[in-house]
Amino acid sequence: MAKFIIILSLFLSFASASYVEELKWPKGETFLTFLEKNHLPQTIYYTLDKEEQELAAEIVAGVKYQVLKSEDNQLEQVLIPIGEELQMHLKKKDDKFIMEITPIMLQSEKRTVAIEIHNSPYVDILNATNSYGLANEFAQSFKGEVNLRNLQKGDKLVLLYQQKRRLGRPFGSIKIDVSMIETAKKKNYIFFYKENYYDAKGQELTSFLLANPVNYTRVSSPFTQNRWHPILQKYRAHLGIDYAASVGTPVKAAGNGKVLFVGEKGGYGNTIEVSHDSSYKTLYAHLNGFARGLRGGQGVKQGQVIGYVGNTGLSSGPHLHFGLYRSNVAINPASVVKIAKSALGGNELKAFINYTNDLRKKVENALESDVSPFREENFNLAYPFERKQS
Ligand SMILES: [Zn+2]
Repeated sequence: MAKFIIILSLFLSFASASYVEELKWPKGETFLTFLEKNHLPQTIYYTLDKEEQELAAEIVAGVKYQVLKSEDNQLEQVLIPIGEELQMHLKKKDDKFIMEITPIMLQSEKRTVAIEIHNSPYVDILNATNSYGLANEFAQSFKGEVNLRNLQKGDKLVLLYQQKRRLGRPFGSIKIDVSMIETAKKKNYIFFYKENYYDAKGQELTSFLLANPVNYTRVSSPFTQNRWHPILQKYRAHLGIDYAASVGTPVKAAGNGKVLFVGEKGGYGNTIEVSHDSSYKTLYAHLNGFARGLRGGQGVKQGQVIGYVGNTGLSSGPHLHFGLYRSNVAINPASVVKIAKSALGGNELKAFINYTNDLRKKVENALESDVSPFREENFNLAYPFERKQS
């Protein structure tokens, strides 16, 4: 952490004229309303290409973004994260504002927590680490696995996890490589393997399954967090799957849930958002129209028709853009859209067992050591902008 504080203080001593503000993206704000509020020209948005405009619709309410202001309170630069790997970078160049998509500078760290249970795993993880993200991810991964109510005081819990950081602070989703609860002298393991949680026997645990939202002719664009386009010399992301289908094809809710949003959403055109199972959300974009009477707050069933394929917003042909979010972070729908849970077999099971044997050893080591868990504190923000050369 010392590194970030040094960076910050360097900034303070050399450039005290301007200052950095960190703000939360308000609910209902779009990139266009943001430009308007800050008296910036709308051409910044309209000169972006189609894909960039679509990405601008991906700004998640509540995301922390950074603003550099001059001493006379004029906006100079803005950084807004899009997904887990890219950000929109708005900056002044020759008295004009330009927008670029750039990679987020991320640090990735691996950590271990080994604690005794005194209250509940959730509360004990939170007390030990001060990380809601970790406590929530644990609750997701262990859901329905061990009866967490029958735990005894003094039962042991070990987590090996990966956390990413942006500007010194936790950022994006947490991966728990292995969780282990020892109760009644039995060790219960859950492993994260190829984007899903598995038990020790290689049975998939993901309790959340989605059905395909549309009858499509082909996938016209897959999910990608971060891709360098060599011809355009630009970074790209596509935070969903595009299913090509003709206008008017019914779009079905991928799972049971509750309608969060029905309406127009920037480059996504006519859009529906449905929340599922506390932490998941699905998004259906470029729709031609909505099912009659569909409104926010309404419950929907898996397979229920909610809208129709269209070509609205920034779309180069009729298709359904289907997005999936977990705790507001876009994830690849391909790992969740399926009917049944899978069990590993054959060579894949062998590879899994090898992989998990290694993690079991690490859990054993963690049980024997008495290193205290890493605690998230309120860190100072690292300086996020390039310094001007003068
Ligand atoms: Zn798309």
